[in-house]
Amino acid sequence: MSNFIDFKRGEHTCDDIGMSNGMTAVFISILALSGTKLAATENQKRLMVRLCEADQICGIGTVSFDVCSLPWERETLEEDKAFMLRVIEGAKNKTGWEKLDYEPSEERLFPNLDKLIRLIERVTAADIDDEKIKKWYELAEADDPINNGFPKCEKHGVFLTCLGCVVCNDPYMQ
Ligand SMILES: [Zn+2]
Repeated sequence: MSNFIDFKRGEHTCDDIGMSNGMTAVFISILALSGTKLAATENQKRLMVRLCEADQICGIGTVSFDVCSLPWERETLEEDKAFMLRVIEGAKNKTGWEKLDYEPSEERLFPNLDKLIRLIERVTAADIDDEKIKKWYELAEADDPINNGFPKCEKHGVFLTCLGCVVCNDPYMQ
């Protein structure tokens, strides 16, 4: 089964990303390792938590999402897009890869990171999926990390989600 990262629901672009479950786990892990270090504002931390919720542990092949449904704020959209692009750049510079028990495949990951760059660059204020974002906030329980100061995994230093640590849950980790 595959997972998809698209621009917007129902809209297909040549930059849509389709990955196997294993590849998705690695993709999200390397973004988490890079982004946790760079996230400075609450909103940037929320963006990272939302991304890390694409965790294989919540059900194989069910972690597809679209870029316009990430919890963007209109007031800081440009700033937060620039942040996300730095996160991807950090992943390409192998930030935190020493914390992984395996060597991710650049050959397979980097073309998808480049697609993610293009998908994020395209997001405008008009594209933000308010409905899905509202729902995401509503579904967060009181004990959700986004409501509790953004705790991090002690072992990997990445933001926790309601599903735990995406790196601990990565099937390639022992
Ligand atoms: Zn961990």
